[in-house]
Amino acid sequence: MVAFILIILGLCLGSFVNALLWRIHKQASLRPVKSRKPKLAVNEPNLSIMTGRSMCPNCQHLLAVKDLIPVISWLQLRGKCRYCHKRYDDTPVTELVMPLLFVLSYIYWPLPWDDKAVFLFVCWLIFIVGFVALIVYDIRWLLLPNRIVWPLAVLAVIQVVVVATLYGGGLNSLLSNLYGLLIGGGIFYLLFQISQGEWIGGGDVKLGAVLGIIVGGPWQALLLLFVASCLGTLFSLPMLLTGRVTKSSKIPFGPFLIVAAILVTLFGTSLVTWYKHFLLLV
Ligand SMILES: [Zn+2]
Repeated sequence: MVAFILIILGLCLGSFVNALLWRIHKQASLRPVKSRKPKLAVNEPNLSIMTGRSMCPNCQHLLAVKDLIPVISWLQLRGKCRYCHKRYDDTPVTELVMPLLFVLSYIYWPLPWDDKAVFLFVCWLIFIVGFVALIVYDIRWLLLPNRIVWPLAVLAVIQVVVVATLYGGGLNSLLSNLYGLLIGGGIFYLLFQISQGEWIGGGDVKLGAVLGIIVGGPWQALLLLFVASCLGTLFSLPMLLTGRVTKSSKIPFGPFLIVAAILVTLFGTSLVTWYKHFLLLV
């Protein structure tokens, strides 16, 4: 039953993320540099995330309910707009990945289901929505927008405070999260400074710090960086060797960080044990 609800929720939120990304990108490209509030001309589409209705990115035709059923509408129309017949840029991948991650998180949730675990799980589902949004945005536009990273940071801080106060985590849990933040953000900040932003972007520093809080401790944060680097290397090496990318091509690092954070959160305890052994052996 829970799995079923999670699948439906994931499908809807996946669809929401698709619309959200397009709007954020569109707003960012409409916005003149340095001025925060774009002046909307009368006939410009309503791009507000809250009040704007879903529309076709190409012809701006408002979409009806029948066009908005996650995955099914996309399959039925073969990824094209019902009105202008142009192909949509986005695919139902987010709509499929979201429920998958929700259900996997439920199955592999590492804590026994008490009040605290339920609270953490709900926060985690929201984190996943942000994670998927960031992955897609970073792959498409090589950027981790603040408008997604900051809300995640705020939620992470709220979660830490609630666990420390309401759920009796106390000072120890606060400190543990703080070390996570310092390691997750600090190492990237150093890399960013040393390379003058060549190796990683400023967005990765912020994301590293936020994920450092979310994974919950110094060991987890170290593991996060380790797993992310491994994933990054595994992924880019074949492409470097086959010449599909060169050393100077920009490969988004955000997705590796996020996938690593998901692995560390769900399988952290066993991974941390293994990683401690690994570090002590070397
Ligand atoms: Zn259209």
